[in-house]
Amino acid sequence: MGMLLIAAAGFFSCRERLVVVQTTPQMDLEPKFWVRVLLADDVQQCTLRVRGGFTVLDSYGRTLLPETIFTEFGEQMEVGVSAGGLVIAGRSFPAMEVTILPDAPYSFSLDDNDYRGKLVLKANLDYTTLDAINVVPLEPYLAGVVGAEMPDYWGSEALKAQAIAARTYCLYQKLHFGPGRHWDVTRTTASQVYGGMRAESSRVWKAVNDTIGQVLVCGQDDGTEEIFPTYYSSSCGGHTEDANNVFGDSFAPLCGVVCPYCKDVARPNVFFWPMVEFDKIAVESALQVKYPKLRDLGNISAISPVRESNYPDFSRLTFVKLVGSNGASDFLRAEDFRLTVDPTGNKIRSTICRIIMMGDKWVFSAGRGFGHGVGMCQCGAEGMARQGKSAEQILSYYYPGSKLIRVY
Ligand SMILES: [Zn+2]
Repeated sequence: MGMLLIAAAGFFSCRERLVVVQTTPQMDLEPKFWVRVLLADDVQQCTLRVRGGFTVLDSYGRTLLPETIFTEFGEQMEVGVSAGGLVIAGRSFPAMEVTILPDAPYSFSLDDNDYRGKLVLKANLDYTTLDAINVVPLEPYLAGVVGAEMPDYWGSEALKAQAIAARTYCLYQKLHFGPGRHWDVTRTTASQVYGGMRAESSRVWKAVNDTIGQVLVCGQDDGTEEIFPTYYSSSCGGHTEDANNVFGDSFAPLCGVVCPYCKDVARPNVFFWPMVEFDKIAVESALQVKYPKLRDLGNISAISPVRESNYPDFSRLTFVKLVGSNGASDFLRAEDFRLTVDPTGNKIRSTICRIIMMGDKWVFSAGRGFGHGVGMCQCGAEGMARQGKSAEQILSYYYPGSKLIRVY
């Protein structure tokens, strides 16, 4: 018998007994609306906890053990790789990929964060590391995004607008990039922040459920309608940016609009961010690691704006020119430059700033706004909600010409 009974059922600690987890909805949703979120990338092991039993499936959905595996309530298990297989709680599974399907309420914890849905473990080719992917129905995924991307005490119409933008963004990523890889989105700002169950609250779930299945589409040249990448960012600084200047994609609703709404919502020290400085040597090496061709410049002696979007009160850099000590020069998108110098994006908070050389430092001053500025301004959405605007009005303001439809 393959049953792995680690402890008798019914051995519950008092603390665990108080945790009531709502059952994950949509476990029978069509596969095309499930999301694959990369939780851990190229790690040697993870720590897994499942409240109760779970089944291990192969990549065709067949059960690898005839029975459910039971674990002591909340007990930690190590998940890792061995030659030719995956190891779960000391037990080897001779497969490159397995799916862990928890019993109801269909939730698990990986490295101390709680998630809904299933967990896919995929060994890398040489079986030295693995990737962990949360495969989760769309709405429970969104509950983990909306609560991580916005304070849950913000207006319900702002939360609904956020849910629709996040749903559309995720489906676009899945459709356009998912087929070429074993995940659809990351759990960081590189996609959209996903906090799992910790980000959930009743207000967040209401925003997700009130907009169930709703996405934004825009018209194509051939007359059809298609979903588009509904970028959004924290605070645009007063005017959102044309996506073509930041990401190089051109969809009509991503054109940039004036935003009088975020200034009163964003904290003043976020809306106008403080000057920051970086050592020239650190800037150079970060740039050269990410863009090896920049080694041809030698030391970087000048960084200057070559293209910017000019608005009445400020300008947003969109392309910068890097000049080397040997006279050679190269160009980068300003947003790529920013996130290479400051990968957190928390110091150089936007490309609305001036870049000044001071001795052995590059100084970023007169900063304004937080994020890339394309699409919906999250603080602006809250500003509109406070003025009584609906989620639909917020979305049609920041994505002009888009249309709201339901896909299920
Ligand atoms: Zn704004």
